Amino acid sequence: MSIPFIDLGAQRERIKTEIHAAVAEVVDSGAYIMGPPVKALEAALSEFSSAAHTISCANGTDALILALKAYGVKPGDAVFCPSFTFTATAEVVALIGATPVFVDIRPDTYNLDPDHLSASIKKIRDEGEYNPAAVIIVDLFGQMADYPALSRISKDNGLTMIADSAQSFGATLSGKMPLEWADILTTSFFPAKPLGCYGDGGAIQTNDAETAEVLLSLRNHGQATKKDLNGAETDHDPKYLNYRIGMNSRLDSIQAAVLIEKLKIFPGEIKDRVRIAERYNRTLKDLVTQTPRTIDDGVSVWAQYTIETRERDDLAAHLKTHGIPSAIYYPVPLHRQEPYRHYPQGPGGLPISEEKAGAVISLPMHAYLDEETQDKIVDAIRGFNGAR
Ligand SMILES: *Cc1c(COP(=O)(O)O)cnc(C)c1O
Repeated sequence: MSIPFIDLGAQRERIKTEIHAAVAEVVDSGAYIMGPPVKALEAALSEFSSAAHTISCANGTDALILALKAYGVKPGDAVFCPSFTFTATAEVVALIGATPVFVDIRPDTYNLDPDHLSASIKKIRDEGEYNPAAVIIVDLFGQMADYPALSRISKDNGLTMIADSAQSFGATLSGKMPLEWADILTTSFFPAKPLGCYGDGGAIQTNDAETAEVLLSLRNHGQATKKDLNGAETDHDPKYLNYRIGMNSRLDSIQAAVLIEKLKIFPGEIKDRVRIAERYNRTLKDLVTQTPRTIDDGVSVWAQYTIETRERDDLAAHLKTHGIPSAIYYPVPLHRQEPYRHYPQGPGGLPISEEKAGAVISLPMHAYLDEETQDKIVDAIRGFNGAR
C-alpha cells in the first residue's frame, strides 16, 4: 500500500455519515446558491477566528482579488509580496493591473523578511513610479509571519495589510490570529489545505463592518448594499441595482455544508498535526540539514512539513522508490517565472528565495499520519543518508 502525501480518505471515513447527511440535506432543500449553510458557515468561521465578519467566496484566489478591490488597489499601486509562494499571491495583483513588488523571505521561517520589506518600500518610494499601497503577507506552510514587525512597517508606510492565510488558517502567534494585526485575511478551502472542502472554496475575514458590506457586494456582481440604498427611493428590486464592478464569487451551499462538518473536527486535527510535526522534528533532527523552525510563540497548522537537505532531488527519487511521496514547494520562485520577471524586486534581489527553492522538500503531512507510517518515512531518509 502506498503512503498518501495528504490522507483525505482517513478524514472522509471518520466523518462520512455527517458529511453525507449534510450534503443530502442541501440537495433536498433545493437552495444550492446562498442557502442556509453558507450563512451558518460564515458565523462558525467568525467564531473560530474571533473575527467580526466572514464573507465566503468561490476560492482563495478570488478572496485575494476581492480583498484588493475592497481596499481600492488599482493600476499604479505597488503591492509588496513574497516570491517564494504559490502563484496566486502575485497573480491577483497583476490581474487587477497593480504591480507586485517581490520581497525576500527569512531563511528560518520562509516568511516575509521585515527588514527587506522596509528596504523595498523605500526603494519603490525613491523611484517614484508606483504608489506603495498594500502588502500581502503569506503565512507559508502553516505558520504566521512576524506580524508585530510587519504591522509596524505597514502602519508607518500607510500600507493595507492583507494576510494570505490559505495555508495557515487556524495558526496563532502569541495566541492571536492574523486579524489582530492585519486589515483583512483571505483563505482557501481547496481540498488539500488544512481546512478544505470537496471542491473549490474560499473566505475573507475582517473586523471592519463597512469593508464587510463592500465585500458582500463585490462577491455578488456589485449588488447594492444596505448602505448604498440608504434612504434612496427605488422602484426596482435591489438585487438588480449594481453599485460597483464586482464578480460572481459565491461559495456553493454544498461546500459550505461540508465545511461546517469539517470545522467541527478542525481544532482537534490541528493538535494532531502539531504532535506529528514535533515527532518528525525529534526523529529527523540529526538526519537532515534543517527541520522546520517555528516562529517564537507561534502555533503552526502544518499545511506542509518542509525540511532542507543536500541532494534534495536524489532524496525525492529515493523516497519514491520506497513508495513515499514528497513535493517541492516551490521549485521556481515567482520572480524567476516568465510572466513575473519584469516586476520590481526589493534591493539586492531575492537571494534567500532562490536558495530555498533549491533546498526544500516537503514530506507527507496530515492529521492521520500514524507513527508506523511516519517511522517508515524517517527510516527511508536514514537509509538514503547511509547509502551516501
Ligand atoms: C492555495 C493558495 C492560494 C489560492 O487558493 P485557491 O483556493 O486554490 O484559489 C493562495 N495563496 C496561497 C499561499 C495558497 O497556498
